Amino acid sequence: MDVTPPYTGRFAPSPSGPLHFGSLVTALASYLDARAHQGQWLVRIEDIDPPREQPGSALLILKALENYGMIWDGEVLYQSLRTGAYQHELERLLKQGLLYPCTCTRKRLAGLAGVYPGYCRSKTSMPQGPYSLRLQCPDQPVVFEDRIQGRQEQQLSALGDFILRRKDNLYAYQLAVCVDDAFQKISHVVRGYDLMDSTSKQLYLQSVLGYRQPAYAHVPVITANNTGEKLSKQNHAAPLPLDEPRPLLIKAMNVIGVDLDISLNHCSVEEIIHWGVKHWRINNIIQSSSIPLPPLS
Ligand code: GLU
Ligand code: ZN
Repeated sequence: MDVTPPYTGRFAPSPSGPLHFGSLVTALASYLDARAHQGQWLVRIEDIDPPREQPGSALLILKALENYGMIWDGEVLYQSLRTGAYQHELERLLKQGLLYPCTCTRKRLAGLAGVYPGYCRSKTSMPQGPYSLRLQCPDQPVVFEDRIQGRQEQQLSALGDFILRRKDNLYAYQLAVCVDDAFQKISHVVRGYDLMDSTSKQLYLQSVLGYRQPAYAHVPVITANNTGEKLSKQNHAAPLPLDEPRPLLIKAMNVIGVDLDISLNHCSVEEIIHWGVKHWRINNIIQSSSIPLPPLS
């Protein structure tokens, strides 16, 4: 698909642990796509969930990006400094009558696989105790063209009314990501396939907030060979080595359809990245939700 400039992309890690091979793959796809379109590439640290943060991991992530040759433009944006903007947008939605308070306990929602059936939809006054705020979603489909995965269609009612502010008063990822993608004028989002359902929610939230919508591309997630689960900080995927980035950088390129001349093994990180930008074709990524972890040694 053609991409017309100006292009602004981003990588938006949560600082819940160091980068691993799976996050290298998504960071790299987003970086190469931006640079191949002469675009800007921004980094945003999504540090709005202190209980899930690991001290020091934001700096480790930035260090890994630098060592792997992905140099960002401008200043890193920290979401923990953006709560005023989230509150402002939340109040705009409240005034429009699009949010409602939910007091459901975890126990009440057990077994629903994260799809909220609207128990509290008719609540109008704000409860005394703790409550979350949910966005009332209509029963309508969200349709978009994914630049890797093709046409996507998702019924909003199958995802349920989602939370924008949590019971513990923290702002939810769905709200923060939409507010900041708009604030940073992100034109192209390239991220992991695990966020596909979130994209439908975000497209809807962007439409009610009156934001311009970025183009989306969802890269297959890397799965662990023994369990078939997505590599993640939660299942203790090995942190990226910071001293010798080249072997894994080359492996990550292969996974997203950039084949390197083997002699490039003797090149610097910068030369490998340069090769990647030059040979980047988003259509060379396989159209799949996941790819098994290749042998890393
Ligand atoms: N912070 C999210 C994560 O690390 C990604 C957000 C995004 O790319 O939209 O899973
Ligand atoms: Zn409820």
